[in-house]
Amino acid sequence: MVRIVFAIFLLGVPLAAAGTAAPSTNDFEWVNLHDVAPTIRIELRYAASKNIAHSPLYPCGMQPMVRAGVARCLIAAETTLRRYNCRLKIWDAYRPRAAQARLWGLVPKNDYVADPQNGSGSLHSWGVAVDATIVDDWGQPLSMPTDFDDFTPASMFHYNGANPLVRSHLYLLQKAMMNAGFDGQRNEWWHFSANDWKRYVPEKLAKLSNAVVLPSSVLSPK
Ligand SMILES: [Zn+2]
Repeated sequence: MVRIVFAIFLLGVPLAAAGTAAPSTNDFEWVNLHDVAPTIRIELRYAASKNIAHSPLYPCGMQPMVRAGVARCLIAAETTLRRYNCRLKIWDAYRPRAAQARLWGLVPKNDYVADPQNGSGSLHSWGVAVDATIVDDWGQPLSMPTDFDDFTPASMFHYNGANPLVRSHLYLLQKAMMNAGFDGQRNEWWHFSANDWKRYVPEKLAKLSNAVVLPSSVLSPK
């Protein structure tokens, strides 16, 4: 664990090649993370019952789909994390609009869930946002502020607790993701959207979006 804490000081060095099969060069193409980023762990929480609904929101066989441009950013983040003996774990990627509508029905609060009828709706539905955490090389969870879908003050982007390990793990995740081209989200430490998401959303809808993002400049150096 000391190794991880120490390694965080070294973040920010140029990213090396990912060493995985490259996604399409067409950024807009939909790709399956299982195919293009096989070292990234996948546990789609809405495909089973460990979520706010306590039941699956996704159809059987749901795959972790994102746009190819977003997959490349995830591979860059994974490359960074692997230097510190960690892996990215994806809790959610593409989210069908029907699932978003069910989620909005359960948690109709804009602070946590995007209204599917408002502007671009959820950026998950455009394949440009993911929910993510980190695990160790063996896939074991590392201590983080909360579990997924914990819609309480403890799930804020900025950690307010006193556990230095949690603080270090969260900083490692956030720094790796933000260096790779993602913005954070104020109320959900696990949510990241591509910082160029407007490229992927029709201009008219993007203008109406009320997405509130946190750029990498909000991260203070450790
Ligand atoms: Zn999310």
